[in-house]
Amino acid sequence: MSSGDVKYCQNCGSKNPIEQKFCGECGKTFNGSTKEKMSTEQKTGMAQGIISFVLSLFGLSCLPFLGSIAAVITGFMTADRKTNNFAKAGIIIGFVGISLGIIGILIGIYAALA
Ligand SMILES: [Zn+2]
Repeated sequence: MSSGDVKYCQNCGSKNPIEQKFCGECGKTFNGSTKEKMSTEQKTGMAQGIISFVLSLFGLSCLPFLGSIAAVITGFMTADRKTNNFAKAGIIIGFVGISLGIIGILIGIYAALA
C-alpha cells in the first residue's frame, strides 16, 4: 500500500485510509450519496423494465401488436436493459408478439386471397 491510498471525508475533510467505510473523525459513511443515487436509477430502470414486461404480455393478450411495439420501445428506453431481466423479457416477448402479429396479418391476407 502506498501513501497515496487515502481519501478525504466530504463532511469534515479529515484524511482516511482508502478501504475505510466510515470516517474515523466524524463517523460519516463514505459514498453514501453515490450509492443512494445509483439505487434511484436502478429503481427507475426496474420500473421501466416491469412496464415493458407487462406491455409485452398485453401484446400477447388484450392489446395485440400495439402492446408489443410499446413493450419493445419501453424495453430499449430502459437505461440498464443489459442487466435488467424484466426489460430483456419485455423486448423478447415484445418481438415475439410483433412476429405473431405479422404472421397473423399474413395469414389473414392469405385467407382473404385464397
Ligand atoms: Zn469526517
